[in-house]
Amino acid sequence: MAIDLRSDTVTRPSDAMRAAAADADVGDDVYGEDPTVNDLEATAADLIGVEDALYVPTGTMGNQIAARVHGERGEEVVLDRKSHIYQWELGGLAQLSGLQTRPVDAGDAVPTPEQFESAYVAESLHRPGTGLLTLENTHNARGGVAVTPEAISAVAEAAHDRDVPVHLDGARLFNACVALDVDPSRMVRDVDSVLFCLSKGLGAPVGSILAGDADFVAAARRVRKLFGGGMRQAGLIAAPGLLALENVDRLATDHENAARLAAGLDDIEGLRVPEPDTNIVQVHTDDLGVEAEAFVAACEDAGVRGGAHGPHLTRFCTHLDVDRDDIEEAIERVGDAVETLRA
Ligand SMILES: *Cc1c(COP(=O)(O)O)cnc(C)c1O
Repeated sequence: MAIDLRSDTVTRPSDAMRAAAADADVGDDVYGEDPTVNDLEATAADLIGVEDALYVPTGTMGNQIAARVHGERGEEVVLDRKSHIYQWELGGLAQLSGLQTRPVDAGDAVPTPEQFESAYVAESLHRPGTGLLTLENTHNARGGVAVTPEAISAVAEAAHDRDVPVHLDGARLFNACVALDVDPSRMVRDVDSVLFCLSKGLGAPVGSILAGDADFVAAARRVRKLFGGGMRQAGLIAAPGLLALENVDRLATDHENAARLAAGLDDIEGLRVPEPDTNIVQVHTDDLGVEAEAFVAACEDAGVRGGAHGPHLTRFCTHLDVDRDDIEEAIERVGDAVETLRA
C-alpha cells in the first residue's frame, strides 16, 4: 500500500471518533442548542486561554471570517507573501470582503516589526489604510516553521501601536506549541483572533476553531452565517473534534517521525532536506536535476505519496496514520525512486 505523506489532512477518523459521532448529543447549532458543539467551543477556548470560540467547517472559512470581522472594505491586509491566506484561499480577502493585500517577504516566517512598519499605510484621502495583519504558525509553505511567541508578540505590538488588529492562522498552532514547548495561551496572548484546524495533525475528519474575545466571536458567528457556515446538528462532526483535542501531545511523535524522515532522505545522494521544526518535510531536488512533479511521480510509482510545492520542492507530511516503520519504509522507497530517476 502507498504511504500517503501528501498532507496531515489525509488521516481517517479512529473507531473512537466514529463511535463518538454516532452517539453525539445534538441540537440546532444555529440556535446555539447543540450541546456537543457548545462543549467543543468551550473546551477549545479553555485550551488556548481565550474567552470564546466558534466551530467552523474549514480553516479557510475561519481565516476568511476573521478577515471580514477585523477589516473594513477597501482596507489593506499585511501578510507574508508565502502565507496560506495569501496564496491558497482563492483571493478570498478580495472576493469575500473587499480587502486588498499588501504582501511582505517574511523570511523568518513572520514579518518583523520593521517589515510591518514599512508596509503600514495610514488612511488618507488617497489611501485606504491598513486594516489587518495576519500571521501564520506553524508556517506551512516555509516548511512547517514553528514561530516563537516572542516573534509573534513583537510584530503584534507594532501592529497594535497603529491600532491594527492581528489574526493568527494557526492551522497547525499546536504543532508549534509542542515543538517549542510553549503553552498555547502564551502563543496567542498578543493576537486578536486565532484559527486552528482539528482536521490536520489532531486527526478529526472535519472542522476548525476560530477563537478570540467574546465580542470578536459574536461578530464572527454572524459572518459564519453570512458565509454559509451556520450548521444545524453539527454535534455529529464536533464530537470527533472533541477527541481530536486529546491528540495535542502526540504531535511530538509526528515531529520525531518527520525528523527521522528528513535525516533519512537527506542521506540519499541528490536530495537536500533541511531538518524540520515540526511535521512538514521539504525535499529539494535541484541538485538531482529533477523537477518536483517528476520526483513526486517517481515516488508515487515507488509507493510514497508527496506533493510538489515548487519547481524543485516536494513536501512530505507526517501524521497520525503513519508510524516509524512506515517512515523507514518510505525512506527505502524514495531511495528506489531516486535510483530510477538516475537510471
Ligand atoms: C490547511 C491550512 C489552512 C486551511 O484549512 P482548510 O481546513 O484546508 O480550509 C489554513 N492555513 C494553513 C496554514 C493551512 O495549512
